[in-house]
Amino acid sequence: MTTTMTSEPAPAVEPVEYFGNWTPPPRPVAVCNGCLFEAKDIEEYVAAAEEINAELGEGEREMTPDDYVWQEEGTLNPKNGHFLCTACYIKAGMPSAPGPGWVAP
Ligand SMILES: [Zn+2]
Repeated sequence: MTTTMTSEPAPAVEPVEYFGNWTPPPRPVAVCNGCLFEAKDIEEYVAAAEEINAELGEGEREMTPDDYVWQEEGTLNPKNGHFLCTACYIKAGMPSAPGPGWVAP
């Protein structure tokens, strides 16, 4: 099979449209599925976010505990914001799954 000048051109890729007032879709608040606390009420995530904020340079946006869970917490379910904090993860028997890993239901 050879490609000639007369062959059909590849379909153009639709450009993604961004509008001036476009804002990302709202994400759910991260909530531990075991103790039902939000990230901001769980010490380990508050401390982790604070540790990152301590390294921030001038004018950089501060990370919230919620941001930290969304970026770093492996058990976070992006569909509903559910995750398990370390204590609840251990109580749940440290579930695991192949591939991208286990997320809270
Ligand atoms: Zn918990």
